[in-house]
Amino acid sequence: MNRGRRAVLLATIFLAACQTQAALPSAPAPTGTALPAATLAPTATATLTPTPAPTLTPLPTLFPRPTSSAPLVACSERRPSDDLYVLVNSSFGLDPDYVPPDLVGLGNYVPGNVTPPDLLLRRAAAEALGRLVRAMQADGPAPTVLSAYRGYYDQIVVYQKWQEQDPAYVSQISAVPGHSEHQLGTAVDFGSPELPALTGDPSARFSPLFAETSEGRWLAVHAHEYGFTLTSPPGAEAWTGLTYEPWHYRYVGVDLAAYLRASGYFLAEYLYLTMTGLPCIPDMGGR
Ligand SMILES: [Zn+2]
Repeated sequence: MNRGRRAVLLATIFLAACQTQAALPSAPAPTGTALPAATLAPTATATLTPTPAPTLTPLPTLFPRPTSSAPLVACSERRPSDDLYVLVNSSFGLDPDYVPPDLVGLGNYVPGNVTPPDLLLRRAAAEALGRLVRAMQADGPAPTVLSAYRGYYDQIVVYQKWQEQDPAYVSQISAVPGHSEHQLGTAVDFGSPELPALTGDPSARFSPLFAETSEGRWLAVHAHEYGFTLTSPPGAEAWTGLTYEPWHYRYVGVDLAAYLRASGYFLAEYLYLTMTGLPCIPDMGGR
């Protein structure tokens, strides 16, 4: 499948539906071959036949999401269902007061040298994270967990910090409050002890170079086996509103994580395409 063409097509559909202001990659120009006049013949039209739309293969029956009977509200007032398949990105946000159910402290699931024990995740994600961390440590890497559940008001603090550090790019490196997957209680930011040496910055915590650390490389290969998926891989910007974040994983269960890895769909792309109706009225300025 031509991933680039599909991404442009789907991003166009998505953004047209959402009315966002995101910059889109320009569509590829037609590639019809100019022919000498003498050879203009009916066969020439064959080269200009549009490529058929790619066949999408979502699996809604494997991951059913109930259609809400509640009246449609703005995404800034959305209280989502509590399953693992809630789309959160620059257009689809959450009510500031939404708190996921069954949050648990990571101290009971992950060794204390990996994470502060008072970080929170939903129980299923915490259990899976514990299994993932133990397996990774057994293979040699030494992961840390830098952040997990963040409520709306905590996200305000994070966003303001990035706004001060990097005002030109804040909207691409940090989700606007109400638009962070961390508010779902299933997203984790991993750290690596190798990052300071790799970046030359002793205080480095978040960097694209995480992908080159032992921990980043292990996660790229094995995270799906524990139900985690990389939300913002390269090329997903039009779907997430964020740049490449090799440290940010979200728990979606083993079946969907494996499906995403095998199919090549981005998480936000898959969740959007398998919606059974809009979950809320998209936010116009959610970037
Ligand atoms: Zn994150």
